[in-house]
Amino acid sequence: AKGKGKNSYQYYTHEMQTAAIKRITLLNDLRYAVKNKELFIEYQPICNFDSKKVVKAEALLRWQHPEKGRIPPDEFIPLAEESGLIIEISNWVFDEVCRNIKHWKSRFCSELQISINTSPSQYFNAESNITEWLNLLLDRGISARSILLEVTENLLMEANDMVSKKLFEFRQAGVDIALDDFGTGFSSISYLKKFPTDYIKIDKSFVKSMTDVSNDKVLCEAIIVLAKKLGISVVAEGVETQEQYDILKRMGCDYAQGYLIARPLSEADFESFLIAH
Ligand code: C2E
Ligand code: CA
Ligand code: CA
Ligand code: CA
Repeated sequence: AKGKGKNSYQYYTHEMQTAAIKRITLLNDLRYAVKNKELFIEYQPICNFDSKKVVKAEALLRWQHPEKGRIPPDEFIPLAEESGLIIEISNWVFDEVCRNIKHWKSRFCSELQISINTSPSQYFNAESNITEWLNLLLDRGISARSILLEVTENLLMEANDMVSKKLFEFRQAGVDIALDDFGTGFSSISYLKKFPTDYIKIDKSFVKSMTDVSNDKVLCEAIIVLAKKLGISVVAEGVETQEQYDILKRMGCDYAQGYLIARPLSEADFESFLIAH
């Protein structure tokens, strides 16, 4: 038993070492990726249940690694967050979205609103200065209403006065705030009371199981009813089937996002999508 213990200990450290080396390599590659223009954004259309129009889209970050191909955001964003690189990357995302939104609004869809995912360190890190974004919008002549900031419970869980102040500043300026992945955390509902929220995004795990776990259907409906009473709009994520779409529409959900409407699209494909719709 002793020998086995020793072996499993060695195995464990070896595994850890390999994982650590992989992380460091990927992080180095990511530093280079920013400079080497390997990052780009896809835009996923969001459709209004009533008008059936697409007047919103979510900006989703992508990394095309020269040797390893596409690296999913769930793999590299946590690395970017831990290393602080997320600040630089997020500012780049914001610049890209601004550049496109101006063009798209004037040419194809004047009401277009693009939502941007934000990470907690952008609100906590002293070097981030996220509220600078408001001045940048002003400088570039982009209305605050064209932008929606998505925040997660991770941020609200640890939020202090400074975070509240920043969110309030955005809201005051006319930028909408959405609470992302709603329902996955422990106290989603209590945050609705404490923080300014214009939208909640029902997590795709609920939408997925809505048709087979009846409790999740009840939960979705309860979230929608609650949001309505609070004057908050609801976006359902991960809508993949017509059945899910129909149920959510009947429940009074406001917006749908998912493969049924469209996959995340390249800049060019999103532009064609706007023209076609
Ligand atoms: P998220 O904010 O919850 O984004 C929605 C995710 O659902 C996206 O995954 C999208 O591609 C996926 N999705 C959309 N429709 C469907 C569907 O019908 N079915 C299924 N199964 N999935 C669908 P993606 O693009 O892999 O992004 C993963 C996460 O990475 C995002 O989750 C977000 O938390 C983070 N992320 C992406 N871009 C950024 C960014 O610019 N900044 C920050 N901080 N995080 C980002
Ligand atoms: Ca999101
Ligand atoms: Ca608003
Ligand atoms: Ca989400």
